[in-house]
Amino acid sequence: MNRVYNFSAGPSVMPESVLEKVQGEVMNYGDSGMSVMEMSHRSAVYQSIIDGTESSLRDIMGIPDNYKVLFLGGGASTQFAMIPMNLMKKKIDMVHTGVWSKKAMAEAKRFGEVNVVASSEDKGFTYIPELDNNTFSPDADYFHMTTNNTIYGTKFTQIPDTKGVDIVADMSSNILSEVYDVSKFGLIFAGAQKNMGPAGVTVVIIREDLIGKAGDDVPTMMNYKTHAEKGSMFNTPPTFPIYVCGLVFDWIKSLGGVPGIQKINEEKAGMLYDYLDNSKLFSGTVRKQDRSLMNVPFVTGDADIDAQFIKEAGTKSLINIKGHRSVGGMRASIYNAMPVEGVKALVDFMKEFETSR
Ligand SMILES: *Cc1c(COP(=O)(O)O)cnc(C)c1O
Repeated sequence: MNRVYNFSAGPSVMPESVLEKVQGEVMNYGDSGMSVMEMSHRSAVYQSIIDGTESSLRDIMGIPDNYKVLFLGGGASTQFAMIPMNLMKKKIDMVHTGVWSKKAMAEAKRFGEVNVVASSEDKGFTYIPELDNNTFSPDADYFHMTTNNTIYGTKFTQIPDTKGVDIVADMSSNILSEVYDVSKFGLIFAGAQKNMGPAGVTVVIIREDLIGKAGDDVPTMMNYKTHAEKGSMFNTPPTFPIYVCGLVFDWIKSLGGVPGIQKINEEKAGMLYDYLDNSKLFSGTVRKQDRSLMNVPFVTGDADIDAQFIKEAGTKSLINIKGHRSVGGMRASIYNAMPVEGVKALVDFMKEFETSR
């Protein structure tokens, strides 16, 4: 079997043991006589699958009882609109760290005023801007942040003290990669396709008192209350992706939960950053203290050499390491499911490429 090391930013690599489990169950789940894809979402067997997925996620993230977990469609991008539709009355605060905060900002502006408390646009989003408490609005409806910036490879290492203003966090590209205290957030959302499972489901973790705030003009499907009241079963949820996410959550559990996977992630990212810091050819693009554990952009400084490297890496089964078009160079996305051996293989090839020049 010729599996590659897939450094795609998303959809991205899945744990091999999960794929094998899916393969084993794809024709006949348990003794149901059918595939999960073929099941009614109203059946008892499917109810047990979605319940299991939710309880595993609650377990590994330590989600407090006063939070609801929703499994929705529409991707993280739908949340950019759904969040202000439900939670914004007048004004929100936001920190601008790249394309995803920009998109969230554009949607929020349809519903009110957006105050940008800090931005790293001046240096191409290659760092995490300093957050000064004095720039926050005490009367903001919430504060929106992107914990990990997939395209630029930056990450917040601290969750700001907003003095009681609820924090809304886009964790699409680093949920479950390191330990977060869920109780610090009003709402966490993440598309599944980076660190949880197949594309198609978006997880929303929302504190209960934030549900039911939407006005009557908010469409039924865009109202968190609709989905919270029906256990994500108001309409047909993305049944198969939810099932696969459950298997991924159990896989994380088997590795010692989020603390266990965090340790592995630190080891993987450490290997790559150590090499970048010592290389004469390659260098990282992000300020050291703001580096992501999940997305590692790097360049040689010469577009032709970058292109040559990407091409040769492809022949070594190191796939999808071309950087985002707005950054250029290379980006290795090393999500939870990327094995240590994959990062080793990449670093080995980088060394080989460097010495051969
Ligand atoms: C990928 C990504 C998104 C967009 O996700 P979709 O599910 O494609 O809408 C939003 N935010 C971040 C941080 C991402 O990495």
